[in-house]
Amino acid sequence: MRSVNLIVIHCSATRCNRRFTVDMLKACHNARFGNKGIGYHYYIERDGHLYQTRDESLVGMHARHYNAHSIGICYEGGLNERGQAADTRTPEQRAALIALLRSLKEDYPQAEILGHRELEGVHKECPSFDCQEYRDYFSGSSVRGTAS
Ligand SMILES: [Zn+2]
Repeated sequence: MRSVNLIVIHCSATRCNRRFTVDMLKACHNARFGNKGIGYHYYIERDGHLYQTRDESLVGMHARHYNAHSIGICYEGGLNERGQAADTRTPEQRAALIALLRSLKEDYPQAEILGHRELEGVHKECPSFDCQEYRDYFSGSSVRGTAS
């Protein structure tokens, strides 16, 4: 298995009142990366539907310099109606995201969860919210869940 020590969360940087479906994402990334498929490993549409868009064993194309050892997750949205960065996660997306993170943390317990904008050299708002909430969540549960 590929060694994964990082989970990077992204937004699609599209307006919350406009759809950006997984098919639209696929067309976009195929155009951008030369028909190599979607750069993220998972995509969560506004209704909470989770798509695995890339096998976890494959290196992604979502975070320059960090792809080799990371998993990339993206949610549809991240911009408000006026095109400004905003936390537009729907309750369904939040539920799908935490369920996915719980599952990934079982497979990769050592993996750190970071928002794209927290990586060195990134100058954008992606994913438009503070991923500290997930680090807090897992630091709490890992303390309770430690057996040894
Ligand atoms: Zn991003």
